Amino acid sequence: MKKKLAILGSTGSIGRSLLNIISKKPNEFEITLLSAHKNYKKLFKQAERYKVRNIIITNLKYFKIAKSKKKNINIYNNFDQLNKIFKKKIDYTMCAIVGLDGLKPITRIIKFTKKIAIANKEPIICAWNIIKKELIKNKTEFVPVDSEHFSIWYGLQNKKTAEVSKIYLTASGGPLLNIPKQNYNKLPLKKILNHPNWKMGKKITIDSSTLINKVFEIIEAKNIFELEYNKLSIIIHPKSYLHAILVFNDGMIKIIAHNTTMEIPIYNTLYQNDKKFYLKKQLDIGKLNNLALQRVSEKKFQSIKILKKIPDKISLFETALVSANDELVNLYLKKKIKYTDIINILIKFLNKNEIKKLKKISPSNLSQITKINNDVRFKINSLYIN
Ligand code: NDP
Ligand code: MG
Repeated sequence: MKKKLAILGSTGSIGRSLLNIISKKPNEFEITLLSAHKNYKKLFKQAERYKVRNIIITNLKYFKIAKSKKKNINIYNNFDQLNKIFKKKIDYTMCAIVGLDGLKPITRIIKFTKKIAIANKEPIICAWNIIKKELIKNKTEFVPVDSEHFSIWYGLQNKKTAEVSKIYLTASGGPLLNIPKQNYNKLPLKKILNHPNWKMGKKITIDSSTLINKVFEIIEAKNIFELEYNKLSIIIHPKSYLHAILVFNDGMIKIIAHNTTMEIPIYNTLYQNDKKFYLKKQLDIGKLNNLALQRVSEKKFQSIKILKKIPDKISLFETALVSANDELVNLYLKKKIKYTDIINILIKFLNKNEIKKLKKISPSNLSQITKINNDVRFKINSLYIN
């Protein structure tokens, strides 16, 4: 029987990698739903190639354009009518939307899928408690996609997190690792978007360059694996062959390595216990001769100081962090602020009393998160309207 699946954010980097894997065995899969925000042309092409009957285009303008152009498939504007699309639970959903806008789609689709693979890290950081509740209620299996988290998940199989004394998440150090700080603001955007190891979307590539992406990933790991922050550390490993290092209380260490392609974690979330073909993308183990592990310098990567400000229990402060950073990255892309302003302003903003107060509030519903997200974006923007 064909595996039925849905891909949210199918036009993006992760979505396309998943489709690339599916294209190797098209007869094994039936794609029930694809989604994008604006790129209806690419979505149409994907829907035609993979014979998909339902698509969602979340941007209203592009939804209307798409509707006027195509009559032979069902086109929706949001995730509110999933019961029209799914008559019973499908096998697998990939959520690869970027940013907090992926949160509502995730919570909506959980009840229609047996398994959900989530690449979209912001919802995991800001609302894991809400997502987890839905997963339990609907008996839906979850698997992380982000390479470090997939590696931890893979390394922990049959082991309890209580057996772990430390987990290191590796960070390549991004495109600026060997560039002196005083030169950052002179660098063209092209240089910052030129990640040495990974081809990813723009936003996450900039977050990798400031290392805030790794701060996000530590929070993501703390939530998913229910670990204390003191068991999680960042370690620089410029080539990104290793993704996670798990140190166990019994003296054993597991080092999880794979080639620098997201297709590997994605493939493994899709074919978990039923591997019928292999990707053949093995890492040449000779490369492991030169791991060059280094401690992270707080002086160079100011963003990691933020980790000390995060409360142990999930709170609305994380939403403020994610939203403020997102908006600052947007301002940088629009050339309204300098590169170094992204993290400098972020740190100052998080020190404001009104933001610090959010550490005491645990998120309980989506509208609370949406409100903080909107307020923070407004505040950050109002600092820079000129
Ligand atoms: P991309 O920017 O390449 O793709 C994002 C996808 O989401 C596109 O399909 C886009 O549609 C859609 N989208 C954008 N905005 C919205 C919105 N407001 N509402 C609904 N859909 C939207 O991102 P990536 O594939 O790089 O990343 C996806 C997620 O996975 C992110 O959270 C990222 O942090 C995480 N991740 C990515 C990795 C990578 O290697 N790329 C590695 C680990 C994690 P459209 O094309 O129309 O804009
Ligand atoms: Mg990652």
